[in-house]
Amino acid sequence: MKRFISLTVLVIVAVLAAGVFEARAAKPKIMILATGGTIAGAQAKPGEAGYTSGTFSVANLIAAVPLLEDLAQVSGEQIANIGSQDMNNAVWLKLAKRINQLLATPEVDGIVVTHGTDTMEETAYFLHLVVNSNKPVVVVGSMRPATAMSADGPLNLYNAVAVAADPEARGRGVFVVMDDKIFSGRAATKTDTTAVETFQPMNRGVQGAAYFGKNRWFPPPGQKHTTKSEFRVDKAETLPRVDIVYSYVNAPRDMVDALVAAGAKGIVLAGVGDGNTTDAVLAALTEAAKNGVVVVRSSRVGHGLVRRNIEVDDDKLGFVAAEELNPSKARVLTLLSLMHTKDPKVVQQYFYEY
Ligand code: ASP
Repeated sequence: MKRFISLTVLVIVAVLAAGVFEARAAKPKIMILATGGTIAGAQAKPGEAGYTSGTFSVANLIAAVPLLEDLAQVSGEQIANIGSQDMNNAVWLKLAKRINQLLATPEVDGIVVTHGTDTMEETAYFLHLVVNSNKPVVVVGSMRPATAMSADGPLNLYNAVAVAADPEARGRGVFVVMDDKIFSGRAATKTDTTAVETFQPMNRGVQGAAYFGKNRWFPPPGQKHTTKSEFRVDKAETLPRVDIVYSYVNAPRDMVDALVAAGAKGIVLAGVGDGNTTDAVLAALTEAAKNGVVVVRSSRVGHGLVRRNIEVDDDKLGFVAAEELNPSKARVLTLLSLMHTKDPKVVQQYFYEY
């Protein structure tokens, strides 16, 4: 009898252990690639407004959210540890290449990139265009440093892993997940210097809502991205130089001339209103375009489209209209376009399609 009971206990323990093992094995494998930002930031003293971005490591970030284990098998890798104001071509290329390498293996089902929020909208759109996989990639950050009261990083990270682990997220391109919302990397834009609800989907709706690990999805956007994108950087060592020129009352042509002299291959105008600027800047941009610089008109306004030939004769001057893209996102598409062409007509087509 005693032997029978101990055998039964043994069988029950074995079955339970197998169940736990199977549940763990069945969980999606999510890799967190850390680049720094406020999500990894620390205050010198608790309660102080000042802090340093990129202080904590990826292991610290994962350890701070033990519940991640319920969602996925999570591992981490440190790509950089910088404030995203310092994001640069070298880190972009390293990140994009590593993501494509990891997603090509069965060992990774999805990726979360932790990132500062200052330039998150640019990195997310860059990855949206150069990641060659249907598997989810989610860019996430926080507005309050990890040491702050009511830090927003842990829940943002939890939601980001839940999105990366969600089969519904596949094939929709790269996301930004912040403040319980799921944005397309194409649309996500920072709109407030410090507020937790800073990200908005410019000219578009959100892609879904992230409710503590349970997601609600809305229809995906139509533009080309990831596997349908013709932009690839896996063999690239550098990226073409593209700069942004801000417009304002009485703006002179000097900035455009200086950028062309410094070797800019593309210039994005952060124009006033509908992508307009002064006659002086317009004259300098016209000259630049004649000399083979790709000139793209966007707007400093933040909302709305810049279409061709409204107050500026783009056909005559050889310019490109940025359509929905704000200056920072227009810069990303212009620099990738320049890896294929300098023809403004082809670049314009890219702005309609991506
Ligand atoms: N300056 C920080 C960064 O972009 C801000 C943040 O992460 O929210 O890295």
